[in-house]
Amino acid sequence: MRKIVIAGNWKMFKTQAESLEFLQGFMPSLEQTPEAREVVLCAPFTALSLISKNLHGSLVQLGAQNVHWEEQGAYTGEIAAPMLTEIGVRYVIVGHSERRQFFGETDETVNKRLKAAQAHGLTPILCVGETKQQRDAGETEALIAMQLEKDLVGVDQHNLVIAYEPVWAIGTGDTCEASEANRVIGLIRTQLSFPDVPIQYGGSVKPNNIDEIMAQAEIDGALVGGASLEPSSFARIVNYQ
Ligand code: PEP
Repeated sequence: MRKIVIAGNWKMFKTQAESLEFLQGFMPSLEQTPEAREVVLCAPFTALSLISKNLHGSLVQLGAQNVHWEEQGAYTGEIAAPMLTEIGVRYVIVGHSERRQFFGETDETVNKRLKAAQAHGLTPILCVGETKQQRDAGETEALIAMQLEKDLVGVDQHNLVIAYEPVWAIGTGDTCEASEANRVIGLIRTQLSFPDVPIQYGGSVKPNNIDEIMAQAEIDGALVGGASLEPSSFARIVNYQ
């Protein structure tokens, strides 16, 4: 059976104080969350350690938003896998479109980050997806196939989550139709050697569309940006019907 993984991506939001405030509002709602659902908070690096100390044995897992492929070294501004695992991080987002778009992330660096994460016992959440221009040009399927082919070279698919994130749906309020997300995720699954890789949908997931998204047969969870910042909206999402 495929695992359900609901992950919040806080991006560059929340100080330590704001993170603690979020936890106070959010944690009680987990009493209603089925144990089989994995809930992940991908917080900024500066908040991870504090959150880790305040999870108090809850089912929430800690996630980071990036990881470098070397264990240490002269890589100013980067973070190494052992630095993350030491403070209890279990997941890491790799290849988010904002990293690809604004920070020069390529399929080659994505591949290196994925392998380094796995080598240290982290579960990577690999983001793939097309831009509006690529969708309009009918290139969605070919683009995603190419991303997967390059990103997954030598990657262990038994310790992996994939997020299908159409770039045009991220932060825009312009959600991909649930049936269309289901279709693309079905295609992604046909390219995998391990069919039980959890595949999330990401892109303007909100309390008012999560139920329809999670009702789709191929969709195994969600990667949630904006709506994960507010305790009650993320609570509604993790407690989808
Ligand atoms: C994301 O950051 O991966 C994302 C999907 O953001 P949002 O939910 O705000 O569209």
